[in-house]
Amino acid sequence: MKINSHVHISIFEGNANNLEESFALLKKDMADNNIDASIVIPDNIENSPNVADLEMAQKLIKDDNRFYLLGSPQIIQRGSSEVRKYEELIKNNVTKGIKFFPGHDPYYPTDERCLPYYKMCEKNNVPILIHTGENSGDSECAKWNDPKYIVEIAQKYPKLKIVIAHYFWPKMDYCYATTKEVENIYFDLSAVADDEVVEMTGGIEKIKGILKKTINDRSDKVIFGTDWPMCDTKKHLELITSMELGKNIEDKIFYKNAIEVYNLPL
Ligand SMILES: [Zn+2]
Repeated sequence: MKINSHVHISIFEGNANNLEESFALLKKDMADNNIDASIVIPDNIENSPNVADLEMAQKLIKDDNRFYLLGSPQIIQRGSSEVRKYEELIKNNVTKGIKFFPGHDPYYPTDERCLPYYKMCEKNNVPILIHTGENSGDSECAKWNDPKYIVEIAQKYPKLKIVIAHYFWPKMDYCYATTKEVENIYFDLSAVADDEVVEMTGGIEKIKGILKKTINDRSDKVIFGTDWPMCDTKKHLELITSMELGKNIEDKIFYKNAIEVYNLPL
């Protein structure tokens, strides 16, 4: 079994004419790569024809039980005013956690507008996912999501499960060292096998070395994900299988840890 814990329904490099087609491509990508379920991350930009927001993602997914959703509140535009809305979504099993986009948006993970969401997620035992690292062609934005801030949050909310996306590329070794001792930090491996990420980080062998150390320290806390459609699913599958971790660990990374962290009914 395999769960892709980090996908978007979006139009990327002309792969689709609309979001319905993009969703069809996602289903094809899952069939081609034997992926059984996916966690779709809606964008916090609303009503865009190019990327599905929560409402659109809900509409597309409908009753297809292979798909799960996260919430993505608008911290800049609406501050913490939507905590109740997102709590209802979690309680009604519409969403399995909340994604934050520091670096796409200009706020730090420690921003006080985020704190009520963290408290709510901790209370409801659902994870938060935090976008980290550079954005393609924009190194400045990584200042917003430095793992040192994420460690602060993890210590302030010790029962909150915090998933770091993209391993703060290209400074993965710094991210490893900064988060090493922190129990409630998890990683999804989305984007880490992407060509640009691999090149900027120092090559695939370096990445494998950091991932092996991470998995050695915390095999229950590393989760398969891709960042499809921006990133290629096969490359991410190959990165994991090429580390020859053994079936037991591979199963954890490919699906067991995602089920556990996101409380998936699988
Ligand atoms: Zn993403």
